[in-house]
Amino acid sequence: MTGPEHPDPADYRDGTRTVHAGLPPPEPGAPFLPGPTFAAPYHLAGRTAPSDAPPDAPPDGYGRDDNPTWRRFEAAVGELEGGTAVAFASGMAALSAVLLGTLRPGEAVVLPADGYYVVRAFARGHLAERGIARHELPTARPLSEVDLAGAALVLLESPSNPGLDVCDIAAAAELAHRHGVPVAVDNTTATPLGQRPLELGADYSVSSDTKALTGHGDLLLGHVAVRDPDRAAALRGWRTSTGAIPGPFETWLAHRSLGTLDLRLARQAENGLALATLLAGRPEVTGLRYPGLPTDPAYPLAARQMRRFGGVLSFRLASADAVAAFLAAARLVVAATSFGGLHTTADRRAQWGGDVVPPGFVRLSAGCEDPADLVADVAAALTGLPRPAG
Ligand SMILES: *Cc1c(COP(=O)(O)O)cnc(C)c1O
Repeated sequence: MTGPEHPDPADYRDGTRTVHAGLPPPEPGAPFLPGPTFAAPYHLAGRTAPSDAPPDAPPDGYGRDDNPTWRRFEAAVGELEGGTAVAFASGMAALSAVLLGTLRPGEAVVLPADGYYVVRAFARGHLAERGIARHELPTARPLSEVDLAGAALVLLESPSNPGLDVCDIAAAAELAHRHGVPVAVDNTTATPLGQRPLELGADYSVSSDTKALTGHGDLLLGHVAVRDPDRAAALRGWRTSTGAIPGPFETWLAHRSLGTLDLRLARQAENGLALATLLAGRPEVTGLRYPGLPTDPAYPLAARQMRRFGGVLSFRLASADAVAAFLAAARLVVAATSFGGLHTTADRRAQWGGDVVPPGFVRLSAGCEDPADLVADVAAALTGLPRPAG
């Protein structure tokens, strides 16, 4: 053989991997990313005349079982996660597949006390009704043997939404595994470029791909990544029988968006740090949390555990009215729930009632705007707000 040596695709850096992940080998006249396949039934080639079936007959029979557009997206995400990915209709479809698919009556699950609130509500309702107990653990408190009593699954969320605390995934996985308990990590805020839970020892890496992974605020999607083939098969079986399937068009859009994940996260992290640095020095702001800020209490652990930081931060203003005044004055900060998108958004979490946070608590998601424009806009919007008491 002549010609230059090509590196193993696994050795490529994030920017290269995200651009190429999951794409089929180039074919003259074919698009880079083939369009979505829309099918409920597929032709069952060869069923009536097996000897005539082409050797490369598509294996698909029905659209709830599998879809070529899912497979390409799953190959891409699996490559970034370092495992096998199974796509779901939303982040909650992915999380409920792990929770309901693995837990049995009489068992318990360890959950973050301060993570995504719909998961706690799900555990208090659907899991409790099925005789599954829960232990709620604050993200900043290390997992202990006491928490593991009766547990059949540990779910961690790091950095946590909305408080942005960080937990030691490797240490928790090591302790849980010593007691035979599998560990799932909700990796939504970090994305697989920010953190690779499977490499840190987790058994399941779960994500709402509605957020930064796809990053355009135009679709809902989720995935679970695992290393164990039996777990992958069980998740696919769960998806087929519950019908928690993603739409081919959303999945295709997600794959298209994945190509810019490295670029988007780089800008979001740049903006996140610039805004955190600004907010840290402002008298209108208290309780700032951003794991990428060297003065943040989570920074030492986050810097060790994470591959890069994202764009989500949280802080408090004096009151709900102060948040309303801030949002009215800002031109580049859009009031919206969700996070991780191109546009900078802010959400006053207390309005939803699920999180234990004060009325002036804000989760801010730095978007991909120009850093200088964004910092100037936020600085101006803060000016004149009341200072928090105490
Ligand atoms: C949004 C979110 C979810 C739920 O995802 P959906 O796609 O909205 O179903 C789960 N976990 C975290 C941390 C989230 O932020």
